[in-house]
Amino acid sequence: MNYKAIIEDIYERVQPFLGHGRVADYIPELARVPITKFGMAVCTTDGDLFQVGDAAEKFSIQSISKLFTLTLAMQLEGEGLWQRIGREPSGTAFNSLVQLEYENGIPRNPFINAGALVVTDIILSHLHNAQRTVRDFVRQLADNEEIEFDTAVAHSEKITGYRNIALANFIKSFGNLQNEPVDVLDAYFHHCSLAMSCSDVARAGLFLANKGRLLQNGEAVVQANQAKYIKSLMLTCGTYDSVGDFAYRVGLPGKSGVGGGILAVMPGKFSVCVWSPGLNDTGNSLAGTKALELFTTVTGVSIF
Ligand code: GLN
Repeated sequence: MNYKAIIEDIYERVQPFLGHGRVADYIPELARVPITKFGMAVCTTDGDLFQVGDAAEKFSIQSISKLFTLTLAMQLEGEGLWQRIGREPSGTAFNSLVQLEYENGIPRNPFINAGALVVTDIILSHLHNAQRTVRDFVRQLADNEEIEFDTAVAHSEKITGYRNIALANFIKSFGNLQNEPVDVLDAYFHHCSLAMSCSDVARAGLFLANKGRLLQNGEAVVQANQAKYIKSLMLTCGTYDSVGDFAYRVGLPGKSGVGGGILAVMPGKFSVCVWSPGLNDTGNSLAGTKALELFTTVTGVSIF
């Protein structure tokens, strides 16, 4: 498969979509990112990396971080996690409060904000310096020691994150947070602010295409069956209330973030990350989704 030629062709074909949609301006710092950016990187389980456009430029991974925190929480807590978080698609926006009231503070899944806040709480309860451990974990996955939080983005969200503040307090009122909401939120905003390039993110997600193991040294990040669980959750919950449309068009498990990034995985073959900051109505990258749809269509490779 000539991935290099394929992604170069996709780069041409997505040009008409760049500039469409909206950047996530509810986090003021993200509103400053030029909407016409586009990058794409493919990492194969053979050890090759192919990239195009702005693939080496760092962006705010936002909710893609939920994938890494879930992986860490699975390592730390195992199956006990599921007593506090569900595993069903929510059918509502990523930052919705409505289901929590009638589902007694148990978030539908770990990839909506409510679920990720509980995941963060679990990590905080296990670790002395949770924030740094998450950053170091992502560095290890991506094999890049330079990955850092973007503190301006974290601060920007902290002072405007009224919905997340409401969510954390609401969950706490049901007894489903062990730590103080302010501490959970601080860690959560920092995880979301991690600045990574498409190649970093694709590399960091490659263990999911490699039966839960790091490609560089064969070390197990999670057990193969846990990697299956994570990918199943990506497929059913990774792109919020447009998860059906994403599965229909792309046919791969994926995780998106409002920074405009999407990570998708083809078991046994590759991980791919696209970035373009213009979002559709459900908070997923518009050109990024299009690029992934073209990728699986042109290559004929998807989980289906
Ligand atoms: N930090 C963002 C928020 O909590 C993450 C949301 C997202 O990327 N979908 O609103």
